[in-house]
Amino acid sequence: MQHSNLGLKNHTDSEDMQRKRSKKAEWQLEIARERIDILFGLAQKEMEGHPDRSRRYVELARKIGLRYNIRLVPERKRSFCKSCNALLLYIGKNAEELELKISNIKSIKCLKCGKIKKIPVLH
Ligand SMILES: [Zn+2]
Repeated sequence: MQHSNLGLKNHTDSEDMQRKRSKKAEWQLEIARERIDILFGLAQKEMEGHPDRSRRYVELARKIGLRYNIRLVPERKRSFCKSCNALLLYIGKNAEELELKISNIKSIKCLKCGKIKKIPVLH
């Protein structure tokens, strides 16, 4: 366990990196996407028993997304609180739907930090 297997430190020289840049980015993106999927899966799994752990997974997934410039799919983007990373999947449990409906926007309040999230409603 002493070696980090994040794959971030490769000893390629800069010339090599430039040549292989696009290819390399592609497989790295692939791995990053996979990691985000796994992390969100874990976050969901730990949501009830270990909410703090769950938030940590979401945080990590978001960090990977930022680092690799990967956009989260809209439904995933809507599934967590941007402020504290808590998943807001269960209305009445960790989220509260507010009655302030402005046209096609639904307001959901995070019961962890109180942040209100606005979600576009498509219908
Ligand atoms: Zn929150």
